[in-house]
Amino acid sequence: MSANATPAAPFNRLALIGFGLIGGSIARGARAQGLAREIVATARSAETRARVEELGIVDKVLASNTEAVKDADLVVLCIPVAASGEVAKEIAPHLKPGAIVSDVGSVKGAVLQAMAAHMPGGVHLIPAHPVAGTENSGPDSGFAELFINRWCILTPPDGADPAAVEKLAAFWRGLGANVETMTADHHDLVLAVTSHLPHLIAYTIVGTAEEMEGVTRSEVLKFSAGGFRDFTRIAASDPTMWRDVFLTNKDAVLHMLGEFQEDLSKLTRAIRRGDGEALFDHFSRTRAIRRGIVSIGQDEAAPDFGRKHATLTKPAET
Ligand code: NAP
Repeated sequence: MSANATPAAPFNRLALIGFGLIGGSIARGARAQGLAREIVATARSAETRARVEELGIVDKVLASNTEAVKDADLVVLCIPVAASGEVAKEIAPHLKPGAIVSDVGSVKGAVLQAMAAHMPGGVHLIPAHPVAGTENSGPDSGFAELFINRWCILTPPDGADPAAVEKLAAFWRGLGANVETMTADHHDLVLAVTSHLPHLIAYTIVGTAEEMEGVTRSEVLKFSAGGFRDFTRIAASDPTMWRDVFLTNKDAVLHMLGEFQEDLSKLTRAIRRGDGEALFDHFSRTRAIRRGIVSIGQDEAAPDFGRKHATLTKPAET
């Protein structure tokens, strides 16, 4: 982005609790866009903190969460969902009055509940979820462009201060995201079908292939067709993060899983009965969804073959 397009720094101190894919991407983007005058970061392990120091993206790397949030006007928890409540409790007494406290967790109802219980009056709790990611984790995995043209969903609790919500929305827009606001419960239902269920299916199918009798592991790796390869990418996602997602969004995931199983039964029946019309109709509807995603710019139409740099060489003449 050009210097002219850089918004004025709206936050004095941004404190990032956790520096993995998401925390590291926020730090890089906020630094590039001048969204905070000072960025401080913490991470749980000394190893990650040492790496963040080396990367030199933030102004200060601290071992103490309470030290990091002192004087921060925006605090963003970028840690596994299940750790949010505990960290909220730890930092609560040290938050500056008027500070905005947010997070990036993939589940919102449980996070809101876990964090709200500890927030002191005068602090604005506004949970958020950037719907953007990769299967990589850790301090080196982040990049400034991760959120560009992706959605960030804010789930402010009832009675949240509209000015604080707008300030956080402007921060995310500064990182390149589109912002939408909804209730935490609605978020969890929508994401159960668009993100959580697909991950569960990927984890299942890759596990099934791994344990299958009559097909060797090397055959699975060697003959992995596009569909299976895509599943393996999703199934390589961070085990801690996804364990927490399924533990904390249990009800919505079970609801969507019920719907999925009914639909799977319908397709199973169509295959068993040789009902080509039912299969064709179903696949036509799903193709339209894919085309809709491409048409709104959330993916590219180009085939994702995954070997962009492969070249054909002429066989040597004998
Ligand atoms: P990550 O790359 O694994 O980074 C996690 C960070 O949290 C690390 O700095 C880690 O510190 C720290 N951490 C881990 N356990 C902790 C604990 N119990 N207490 C305090 N800190 C802890 O994870 P990520 O992908 O950035 O995910 C972070 C959050 O973003 C999760 O809530 C996830 O749901 C959400 N999210 C992820 C994606 C995605 O695609 N990955 C997308 C959207 C939202 P150490 O390095 O020292 O262990």
